[in-house]
Amino acid sequence: MRVFDAVAHGWEVLSTLSGQGQQALFESLVQPMLFQLGLASYLEDAYEATGWLLAGLAQIAVMLAVIGPLQRWRPAETLPTDPAERARRRAAVRVDVIYTLIDRLGLLRVVLFFAVDPLWNAAFGWLSVQGVDGWDLDQWLAPAWPGVTDSALFGFLAYVVVLDFVNYVMHRLQHRWAWWWALHAVHHSQRHMTMWTDSRNHLLDTLITSSVFVLVARVIGVPPGQFIALVVLSRLVENLSHANLRLGFGWLGDRLLVGPRFHRLHHGMGIGHEGAVQGTLGGCNFAVLFPLWDLVLRTARYGCEPGPTGIRDQLPAEGGRDYGRGFWAQQGLALARRFGDRAAAANEATMPSQRTEALRR
Ligand SMILES: [Zn+2]
Ligand SMILES: [Zn+2]
Repeated sequence: MRVFDAVAHGWEVLSTLSGQGQQALFESLVQPMLFQLGLASYLEDAYEATGWLLAGLAQIAVMLAVIGPLQRWRPAETLPTDPAERARRRAAVRVDVIYTLIDRLGLLRVVLFFAVDPLWNAAFGWLSVQGVDGWDLDQWLAPAWPGVTDSALFGFLAYVVVLDFVNYVMHRLQHRWAWWWALHAVHHSQRHMTMWTDSRNHLLDTLITSSVFVLVARVIGVPPGQFIALVVLSRLVENLSHANLRLGFGWLGDRLLVGPRFHRLHHGMGIGHEGAVQGTLGGCNFAVLFPLWDLVLRTARYGCEPGPTGIRDQLPAEGGRDYGRGFWAQQGLALARRFGDRAAAANEATMPSQRTEALRR
């Protein structure tokens, strides 16, 4: 039990420290700014936003200090020697950096705050008026094993596991429903994966997944402070698993935690985004943190080389579809795929087999 106590103690120290950082940043910068702007009524929300900003900054620091050097140490994909090709690749990665800054510095949180939070607040307010009280997963589990299941760390881990399963289900649906794939394809269209690729998502896609995630978190009663820690932890693992890094965690490790090797297979062209029949929707290795879900639900794949990453129809021989180079082009083309060319999409569904036929001939 000593190890568990030590981890629990470390956890308490870490949360106290981050709380102090949040307090300091808020008092020295955010609070005076709000008073200056006459926005004192937003003090409480701004305090929460400061927590997100701090967490985002810490995350970018960890990416630069730890994951960046790892990428240089053992890249899965080496830089091309041709200078023009090198420049093209750098430009593609730069777009992912923009996605990361938008995501991690809380700009999307602000959108959620104004667009989605009021909705959930109203819904939960209405429920409590109806006499439906909040339910907390950690309180429910606490009596099971006194000394273990009633600790803050155990409650936190329980929330991590449940929300990771929610992420798995959403990711599977992104690869199953054509309209959702049209948006999620933005994420897969990066052919040069790096630690920045995790945030490369369509804004509407992020809005949908974040709304569901926040809703489930509220339904199962994740405390706000733990929610930030949970999101930060998952995102760091996601940054690592997208890194341009030749690294596996060993036979057992790759089955316990999602790493670069596991997730690169998910991005493997034709491996991670197609079903058994070429050109159909499907894929493998959907888990975000725990491959357990893929193992139990039989979507895990190990032991093959990912090869080049991207989407099959980006290849010139497969139609050379353009998913956009810059941020706005990628956002716009996804909407065009979703709303604009449904007829073309229906056509496309029958195309790949014809294309393969043509290639065979
Ligand atoms: Zn995917
Ligand atoms: Zn990914």
